[in-house]
Amino acid sequence: MFPTFTLRYARLPDRFFEPFTPVHVEKPELVAFNRELAETLGFDLSAFNEQEATEWFSGNEVPEGAEPIAQAYAGHQFGGFSPRLGDGRAVLLGEVTDRDGRLRDIQLKGAGRTPFSRGGDGRAPLGPVLREYLLSEAMHVMGIPTTRALAAVTTGERVMRRMPEPGAVLTRVASSHIRVGTFQYFGSRHDVEAVRTLADHVIERHYPELLDTPEQDRYLDLLKAIQQRQAQLVARWMGVGFIHGVMNTDNTSISGETIDFGPCAFMERYDPGTVFSSIDTNGRYAYVNQPVILQWNMARLAEAMLPLFDSDEQRAIERATEVVQGFAETYAAAWLAVMRDKLGLSQPEDGDQVLIEALQEAMRVGRADFTLTFRQLGECARGEDGDAALLALFEQDAGIREWLPRWRERLAREQASGDEIARRMHAVNPLYIPRNHQVEQALSAAAEGDFAPFETLREILAHPFDEQPGREAWTLPAAPDEAVFRTFCGT
Ligand code: AMP
Ligand code: MG
Repeated sequence: MFPTFTLRYARLPDRFFEPFTPVHVEKPELVAFNRELAETLGFDLSAFNEQEATEWFSGNEVPEGAEPIAQAYAGHQFGGFSPRLGDGRAVLLGEVTDRDGRLRDIQLKGAGRTPFSRGGDGRAPLGPVLREYLLSEAMHVMGIPTTRALAAVTTGERVMRRMPEPGAVLTRVASSHIRVGTFQYFGSRHDVEAVRTLADHVIERHYPELLDTPEQDRYLDLLKAIQQRQAQLVARWMGVGFIHGVMNTDNTSISGETIDFGPCAFMERYDPGTVFSSIDTNGRYAYVNQPVILQWNMARLAEAMLPLFDSDEQRAIERATEVVQGFAETYAAAWLAVMRDKLGLSQPEDGDQVLIEALQEAMRVGRADFTLTFRQLGECARGEDGDAALLALFEQDAGIREWLPRWRERLAREQASGDEIARRMHAVNPLYIPRNHQVEQALSAAAEGDFAPFETLREILAHPFDEQPGREAWTLPAAPDEAVFRTFCGT
């Protein structure tokens, strides 16, 4: 039933990882399985055997052909550098080739203490496992590059966090788990040979279009390409109000996928300074800071790759600096494209940025729900019947009242009917997002053994752009007594 392993990372030099066999768990139970993803990965579901699957996804049995390893990486966490982090509780079984011919990592997260665990227990509580399951799959169906969730297993063991919690293992799928921190691991050791080996592996795997680039430009182009993908990714996050929460360099992927869903959350009422993570006391990773932090992370990546850019260090710094400074422009273009789509603007005009910023200001002052505002604007594109419901989303509506006619004037220059524009907007502006209070309710019920709310939320979030009759309640922001202001990594 398990597809054949390809094993690429495990064939890199020994210092890239530590061999590690998942630690046995007491009483594993499969609580979620992503059949659709399993199929695309080449699992033979006609031979699906729940017991066998449970053994694999708990780590109790290593599937044939896998060579489990813990990957080495470093990272800047909240600005401070740790030269050795690595997979402290995750194990890479290996890669498989999916139906589209792409290599995909299969990783178990929460698989026990590894040589990188330091003080940690190597385990994951059920709550964060299900949170990552829900949020990563929600991101995927919204078309935002992300790691995916293949399975969740409870271990039958308790893990100690703020309180004892049920333990779980998440099976995660990624186009790779290579991070900015992977480059930093070798860069900080001045192991230039390893940095080059890693860069070559990354090019072959994620940026094969660079294989033909002359060597003197190839690695700088790699930096540019990674930066481009990451800029697009963060622009997409901004477009759905997603706040990652821990944009450390070890949580920034080289492939441009969203990775390591910790205390992440979706913003409800629009406030650029929104922070959810309980450990982000200075708001380093606030919504509005995400692009700036990404640029900072790209500068750290450039530092780690520096010797590859030019044999002359000064020249290498100049070349890298130029690329990283180009981030602002790359990101601005990516963001504008995302926001234009959200407002139904298909033909770029000069005044678009000003128009978008005016809407943001109206939402901020009016404390309007980010998701519902854009969704309802889709209705307003059809005509004025939708206006009352839009205005009702604002505590103060002077700003939005002033803004609406400006937008309509702009829409009039689109060569499309109101209905067409509405359709386009509804295809990019979700009606359903994983709202914190709903996610928390689903996780609390699951911790008590009731997975029904998790299943319901999973079903709803599988169709974020479609109206789902009878499920209107899931479109709503938290009532004041339900609101979740703090999220925890729970690691
Ligand atoms: P994170 O904050 O989850 O991105 O993890 C940061 C670092 O801490 C990584 O090296 C993880 O492998 C490690 N880590 C997180 N949780 C645990 C845990 N429960 N046991 C061991 N290591 C952990
Ligand atoms: Mg991490």
